[in-house]
Amino acid sequence: MNDNRFLLHVCCAPCAPHPLRTLKKQFALTLYFFNPNIHPKKEYQRRLDETRTLAEMEGVGFIEGEYHPKEWLKKARQWKDEPEKGKRCEACIGARLDETARMAEELGIRRFGTVLTISRRKSSIMVNRMGSLAAKKFPGIAFSEADWKKAHGERFSEKISAEYGFERQNYCGCVYSRIQAREKEKRRAAACVAK
Ligand code: SF4
Repeated sequence: MNDNRFLLHVCCAPCAPHPLRTLKKQFALTLYFFNPNIHPKKEYQRRLDETRTLAEMEGVGFIEGEYHPKEWLKKARQWKDEPEKGKRCEACIGARLDETARMAEELGIRRFGTVLTISRRKSSIMVNRMGSLAAKKFPGIAFSEADWKKAHGERFSEKISAEYGFERQNYCGCVYSRIQAREKEKRRAAACVAK
């Protein structure tokens, strides 16, 4: 069977342009926006709208997953004090990639991947490990490993994202990363005042 379809998990539009443009040269691409981690709802809606716009402008498919932030929080709150790249992120990324693999199976798409490795705030090794584990749960579905931050991928995504006018946020997505980003800003401001 010659099936060149590919389901690409996307966390937000600013991260997506480099993986999207690379993969669409080879595959019939569909973006899958499944991110119950994003807080608050207004921010979820903004990231969703931008990702849908990106898909339309780039001529690729788009699917929105379900948004159940309370369920996500129920599991994640045990790791609320973990830093980024810790256990909370591993569980969060694992759950999103499990669902992407499940959706690929539902759609009859044999390959899936994610844009998440483009961020310097993510361990590509961990993201790829969680993707491979997700694929093992769905026989016949393959995870496509990548490290999108290589070869200035992040810079390319930022450039295209700026051309589209997308907003680059200063936190990863969940309420805990938002609090941590705010605390970092406060420390930075206090350090400037102390100088
Ligand atoms: S920091 Fe990002 S990857 Fe980690 S738990 Fe929060 S939203 Fe998920």
